[in-house]
Amino acid sequence: MSDCLFCDIVKKKVKANFIFESKELLAFEDIRPQAPIHILIIPKKHIPTLNDLKEEDKAMMGELFLTAKEIARAQGISATGYRTVFNCNHDSGQAVYHLHLHLLGGRRMSWPPG
Ligand code: AMP
Ligand code: ZN
Repeated sequence: MSDCLFCDIVKKKVKANFIFESKELLAFEDIRPQAPIHILIIPKKHIPTLNDLKEEDKAMMGELFLTAKEIARAQGISATGYRTVFNCNHDSGQAVYHLHLHLLGGRRMSWPPG
């Protein structure tokens, strides 16, 4: 086991319900879903937070958002709507320090977020 949970999921050392996989990305169901659909989309590369993104990550980040759009379509929530969230550092509530985009949908959400 490494000291990063999501790196262990990438290496298939920790189980997850996979939704999508490509050369650079992995998507799987959140273990504690906050909505009927709650999927995490992550780079396979270990990037702790949004603050650590580099110029070289541009293409991967583009693919990540296009993947979010495609998963939302496949899950049937494109028209009803969904939310995408990156938590960054302590004040946002980030708990796992391996970059991940939350894709949440299937219910009406409130704004502003708590
Ligand atoms: P964050 O607070 O943005 O760091 O979100 C971390 C997310 O990872 C939370 O929504 C957790 O429920 C989720 N999570 C933690 N452990 C696992 C796991 N083993 N498999 C899937 N999701 C997980
Ligand atoms: Zn990691």
